[in-house]
Amino acid sequence: MDQGSIQVGTQNIPSPVEPVSSPLVHFAIADKLINIGRSNSLWPLTFGLACCAIEMMATGCARFDMSRFGAEVFRPSARQADLMIVAGTISKKMQPGIKTLYDQMSEPKWVMALGNCAISGGPFAFEGQYGIVLGADQFLPVDIYVPGCPPRPEALLQGIIELEHKVSGWKRWKNPETV
Ligand code: SF4
Repeated sequence: MDQGSIQVGTQNIPSPVEPVSSPLVHFAIADKLINIGRSNSLWPLTFGLACCAIEMMATGCARFDMSRFGAEVFRPSARQADLMIVAGTISKKMQPGIKTLYDQMSEPKWVMALGNCAISGGPFAFEGQYGIVLGADQFLPVDIYVPGCPPRPEALLQGIIELEHKVSGWKRWKNPETV
């Protein structure tokens, strides 16, 4: 019987598990290290749409100190950024510009919807409105949603930490209740 089959009665049938040979180079480990580096140095795009952007600016100031998480380097060019924080109301006029900025960002890249407007249109989602897009996920692949009107800076920091978990699979802090 060869290694790639199993014997059932008198029959040899192909094994669902192929014999595994050990690779010389473990790219998975390299990927893991690179992703830990990426998750600890997220570079957001300098970009705001409405009131939630004021909270985002406050998060970057000394009191909340985003640099503790390596995410304080707001880039003026989309080509240098890997995180788009959609902070504020998305008007239909702005939508093509936001999509262009997203397309210009380097890969891999992530999107955070910050505040109720960016999640679902917020207080502007009512019958008959014609000028507002009902959430960033209508045209962007959103990775993290941070609710609130507006969300506090601590909520944005929590969103950054959750995104770190998503990018690297590594938890900065473990919840003692779930350990
Ligand atoms: S969610 Fe609230 S605070 Fe944020 S942009 Fe919309 S209206 Fe302004």
